[in-house]
Amino acid sequence: MKQRLVIGNWKMNGDQQTNEMLLKDLLVGMTNGGNLEVAICPPFPYLASIATQLQGRTVGLGAQNLSPATHGAFTGEVSASMLRDIGCRYVLVGHSERRALFGDTDDVVAQKFAAAIAQELVPVLCVGETMDERRAGITTSVMTKQITTVIKHVGIENLARGVVAYEPVWAIGTGETASPDQAQAVHRHLREVIGAFDERIARNLQIIYGGSLKPDNAQALFTQPDIDGGLVGGASLDPASFIAICDAITTTPRGTA
Ligand code: PEP
Repeated sequence: MKQRLVIGNWKMNGDQQTNEMLLKDLLVGMTNGGNLEVAICPPFPYLASIATQLQGRTVGLGAQNLSPATHGAFTGEVSASMLRDIGCRYVLVGHSERRALFGDTDDVVAQKFAAAIAQELVPVLCVGETMDERRAGITTSVMTKQITTVIKHVGIENLARGVVAYEPVWAIGTGETASPDQAQAVHRHLREVIGAFDERIARNLQIIYGGSLKPDNAQALFTQPDIDGGLVGGASLDPASFIAICDAITTTPRGTA
């Protein structure tokens, strides 16, 4: 059965002391049952020490970004091989905050996805429409473009080595969540786009939802047949909420299409 996945994106929050407490509470409370994989994405400076603390534990580690380049004169950048070297398994690519604030175009995102794959990291490709795009009725065409740019760059077999996260931009950090039907419709559309390249890959690829996921809306989203887990921002900074979201997925039977 396809494994479900919950990833916590800590964004640019925390310090050594608060991270330590957060991690401790997470590791104590996390049960990790029911075919669920859990990972956290702390800020860069804390990755190496958290990697050490996670050794032998079931919680995986991811980074929030990477450089498309392998090495060299790119001041301030972090490469895929460095992330691999310190024990990361996942890396977010194309998070909407990177796209909106740091110029990550679809092409740059595709290059970052390729850089992650080349180092055997699991890229978590974030896609999502803005509220203006949703109101203009172009959500599906925006999704098609964001996903096919990556497929055309890396090939469908390499897309299958990653994870896709559908994150409507208007739902990120706003407290507004896509309804289960809205999220399911986009997840289904993404699977159809991927299915036009390879149906088996479309069925098996993990497509997770992100955007103001909370303990009280998680279950309704996780019952949707095409939602394989969650990417959690704000609520991942509160151990009780993050654990409750993980528990919600393990106790929610997968819906049927
Ligand atoms: C995110 O940053 O990926 C995210 C989904 O944030 P939030 O849960 O706070 O909306």
